[in-house]
Amino acid sequence: LPELPEVETLKNSLAPSLEGQVITYCYLYNKRLRWPVDSKLKRVVGQKIHDIHRRAKYLVFTLEKGFMIIHLGMSGTLIFKNRNLAKDKHDHVQFTIGKHTLYYNDPRRFGSIHYVENLSTFWLFEKLGCEPLSDIFNGKYLLEKTRKRQTSIKQIIMNSNIVTGVGNIYASESLYDAGIRPSKKGSRLTKMQCHQLALSIKKILKKAIKAGGTTLLNFKDSKGKMGYFIFEHKVYRREGLSCLSCEGKIKKSITSGRSSFYCLSCQS
Ligand SMILES: [Zn+2]
Repeated sequence: LPELPEVETLKNSLAPSLEGQVITYCYLYNKRLRWPVDSKLKRVVGQKIHDIHRRAKYLVFTLEKGFMIIHLGMSGTLIFKNRNLAKDKHDHVQFTIGKHTLYYNDPRRFGSIHYVENLSTFWLFEKLGCEPLSDIFNGKYLLEKTRKRQTSIKQIIMNSNIVTGVGNIYASESLYDAGIRPSKKGSRLTKMQCHQLALSIKKILKKAIKAGGTTLLNFKDSKGKMGYFIFEHKVYRREGLSCLSCEGKIKKSITSGRSSFYCLSCQS
């Protein structure tokens, strides 16, 4: 499942080849993604890509007259292919951009592709919270957002209306780093803990981006390279193994259908 670091990594690997290039071709082999691809996506043809950035787990292509927005869903990716190479059955959209042939490939089709003229009214962005790596996301923000919430701190940091792109792996790792138990009620966090947690989330995400993202499925970068996503998890999926900071064992618990991993003595 591509998470924020994977999307950031993909953005970083696509941008140098695609920014400044013109999209000269767009073909939809299969419109049936998570939401049917609107045929107005074809409006990208003839437009130059000014910039590619990431918002939450979306890739945003800033074009001359509008924006192309791509969400990778569970198994989506963008792959450069040699023009002579056969199309894969999971290649749903094909683009020619400059001298490159780029495919949107997605075996499980939970991803989506959109074209909009105005980003500020794009329905999927309307309720998005702040970016975890931005200055707005800090201890003060987290303190404010946790005061009246009776839900667990883990659910709060995974709520994309509060902060975007903190998935299960990064939430577990950040809470371990900050010494906070995942089940702790948001309102019970101290000012100091909010401050520490904001720092830990930034630290863990940056570390993962530096390692090239991490994944449990078949995430590939845009050149189809696989397997270099190595990020050492300290708690995630380490239940029963020794804690790396104490003598204890990592525990696993399931709340609202999501697994949490933590150390009873290091996290309170
Ligand atoms: Zn421990």
